[in-house]
Amino acid sequence: MKPTDPNIRWIEEPRLGLTGRMYLPLVVQGLTTTTRHLVSPKQTVSFPEERPKIGNPLIYRGVHRLNKDDAGRVKCVACFLCATACPAHCIDIIAAPSPWPDREKYPESFVIDELRCIFCGMCEEACPVEAIELTSLFDLTGRSREEMVFDKEKLLSVYDQTKDAEPMPSHRGGTTP
Ligand code: SF4
Ligand code: SF4
Repeated sequence: MKPTDPNIRWIEEPRLGLTGRMYLPLVVQGLTTTTRHLVSPKQTVSFPEERPKIGNPLIYRGVHRLNKDDAGRVKCVACFLCATACPAHCIDIIAAPSPWPDREKYPESFVIDELRCIFCGMCEEACPVEAIELTSLFDLTGRSREEMVFDKEKLLSVYDQTKDAEPMPSHRGGTTP
């Protein structure tokens, strides 16, 4: 297509007055936005001294925990449904015959790579016995990659740390997330 083609519609560059050329309307617009944010309620907090409020910790997707039953045993029955559902392939379970008579298997080893996890919640959705849950802990971190690969003991300790503030669904009574 040539520049002389009649199908081409040429558009005139808008002519700016003196104020436009000095960007005055845009400067005023920017200063108005800045002033509005200066006087509006603060959205940030001085973390870690002050912790942000989480709307509903029961549906927040922070690091995982492995729940315990009333006898203090890991609830997991090593069915592998969570690992199968996980789109990030970050759950690694080794099943073994259960030492308890009420189930066939239990997880001898249960590892979640929190660095590969995308915190989608599919594992929690898939679990038939509410053994795995995401918690509201968003700042449980480590100094190395290895520390962020949570083993069974660490996942159970997260349960101990969060069980009072975030009870399991079957222990919530009338509370709905
Ligand atoms: S939250 Fe999603 S990505 Fe993370 S372990 Fe569960 S299923 Fe996998
Ligand atoms: S956490 Fe739940 S879904 Fe995953 S293996 Fe254990 S029982 Fe099965």
